[in-house]
Amino acid sequence: MKKIAVFTSGGDAPGMNACIRAVVRTALNKGLEVIGIHRGYQGMIEGEFVVMNNASVAGIIHQGGTILHSARCAEFRSKEGRQKAFEQLEKAGIEGVVAIGGDGTFTGADIFSKEFDIPFVGTPGTIDNDLNGTDFTIGYDTAINTAMAAIDNIKDTANAHNRLFIIEVMGRDVGFIALRSAIATGAEAVLVPESQTDTEALIQTLKINQKRKKRANIIIVAEGDETGGAFKIEEEIKKRFPFYETKVTILGHIQRGGRPTCMERVRASRMGMEAVNALLAGKSNVMVGQIHNDIVLTPFDQAVKHHEEINPILLEMVEMLS
Ligand code: ATP
Repeated sequence: MKKIAVFTSGGDAPGMNACIRAVVRTALNKGLEVIGIHRGYQGMIEGEFVVMNNASVAGIIHQGGTILHSARCAEFRSKEGRQKAFEQLEKAGIEGVVAIGGDGTFTGADIFSKEFDIPFVGTPGTIDNDLNGTDFTIGYDTAINTAMAAIDNIKDTANAHNRLFIIEVMGRDVGFIALRSAIATGAEAVLVPESQTDTEALIQTLKINQKRKKRANIIIVAEGDETGGAFKIEEEIKKRFPFYETKVTILGHIQRGGRPTCMERVRASRMGMEAVNALLAGKSNVMVGQIHNDIVLTPFDQAVKHHEEINPILLEMVEMLS
């Protein structure tokens, strides 16, 4: 193998730049040429390729976002789109690809590398932590720390004014960000997609808190909770506590950006380095993950089947400790 490419795809995540840097520098150290593909699968189809050298990835390890940019690309879902992508890779002489992205990115990579003879190795770049075969995805640690810091700030004002804050955090299908940030900020309740929300129990908790004369009440809601999100919860609470001053905050995209944490940078760097090693070892269609500090390779079709239940002990902790 003489020439490889790297790209980022799907939702951007802090730590992607550290991973790109590690891929590029490991590959150069091993005597490979490296191409950066801009804008994910869209750039692959359109041949948006740039030659990467050591300087191209200088000064980026601490930056959020992705210097290669990302995209959601409908065309890659069709055979014709993937054919165009293959022709571009072949024309550029690319013999292996590192894909940094989430479950959609790996589903696409899995289909592509079974159709065409170019090996793909992935690293898990998503703030959602929703992939099998790794304890942590790149971006998750930073996202929970960003959510925690924002909620800490809101808690100050909630305390000052005796208010109930309902804070919506990211997580369409999984409640990892909601649960971790709820525990870390001492929230009164957390609502996640993995468990059925008991609105009556929530109302009871608020009644008890009222009796205890708690000054601030913080409820964390994952955006994908079946209740419909923070504004819906507020409606329900207002019906029962019309005189309670409630405020809704949607944290939104601040959770995606920002400087990656130390753990993020270290993990992303290691995964990037191991992705190049895996390509050189002849691996394909696998995601590089880290479990208990060990590097583990998981086939793409297994990595995307994430059905981990939320840990009930952590849910109980929120209730017990608030
Ligand atoms: P995140 O978890 O952060 O959203 P992701 O990788 O899951 O990241 P998606 O937008 O779902 O983000 O997927 C990225 C891209 O992968 C899509 O825009 C599309 O080009 C490609 N892709 C997703 N699913 C498929 C599929 N079934 N077939 C082919 N390509 C796909």
